[in-house]
Amino acid sequence: RVDLTAISKSFGSVKALDGIDLTVEDGENVAILGPSGSGKSTLLRVIAGLEEPDAGDVAFDGVSQSGIPPHKRDAAIVFQHFALYPHLSSLENITLGLRHGLGLPKKEAEQRAHEIAGRMQVEHLLGRKPKEMSGGQRQRIALARALARRSGIVLLDEPLSGLDAQLHAVLRLEIASLLRSVGATGINVTHDQLDAMAMADRIAVIHEGRIEQLGTPDELYAVPGTLFVASFIGSPP
Ligand code: ATP
Ligand code: MG
Repeated sequence: RVDLTAISKSFGSVKALDGIDLTVEDGENVAILGPSGSGKSTLLRVIAGLEEPDAGDVAFDGVSQSGIPPHKRDAAIVFQHFALYPHLSSLENITLGLRHGLGLPKKEAEQRAHEIAGRMQVEHLLGRKPKEMSGGQRQRIALARALARRSGIVLLDEPLSGLDAQLHAVLRLEIASLLRSVGATGINVTHDQLDAMAMADRIAVIHEGRIEQLGTPDELYAVPGTLFVASFIGSPP
């Protein structure tokens, strides 16, 4: 379970996060939906420990993560622009964090990489470098790298950005079912309401660093709580 309590974070005069409260239950998949600049990536970075909040607390399973560095947290992040190392093969991209972050021996790290790649049907890509793969393939490898950590919590920052419409629709279902099959608690960030609707158990609509509304896709669609939510989720009938 992830508990966020009164999280605030400013950059100079910009209040990126302004008192975020959110609980994500075990195995639940919550989408953070909001426009560009609303604080989505900042929120994920705070949860992952890559950014220290000015105020508030992040807890995993009731344990405050304050002061715990990113690699010691039970959370894996897939970055907005996947951030694969360009000079490394997919296999090396996946095993690097397992070896140096989690301290697994090379053989065990490679076993894990093969296992998750098989599951995601990307084993044939393990020898390729990022520039030798399509955007969708890179996306899958970035996802495999995160899932290989076997973290309880998977943080996805716009995992579908930059894909063509067809691949986009395929991958969004694939990601949702993968998260479910590994039993991970998922928090995925998107500015696309259709992605949020299709992938998430609940959606938190974020606007200027605040959660405007939290609910199931049906609830948000049927009863938007604010004008912003109504206009963002889709025009009311
Ligand atoms: P996008 O959809 O464009 O990725 P976002 O919702 O992820 O947007 P954030 O990246 O979280 O938005 O940024 C929230 C606000 O904080 C923005 O106004 C941004 O300019 C600002 N911001 C984020 N990171 C920094 C930083 N390191 N230094 C200064 N300002 C920052
Ligand atoms: Mg972002």
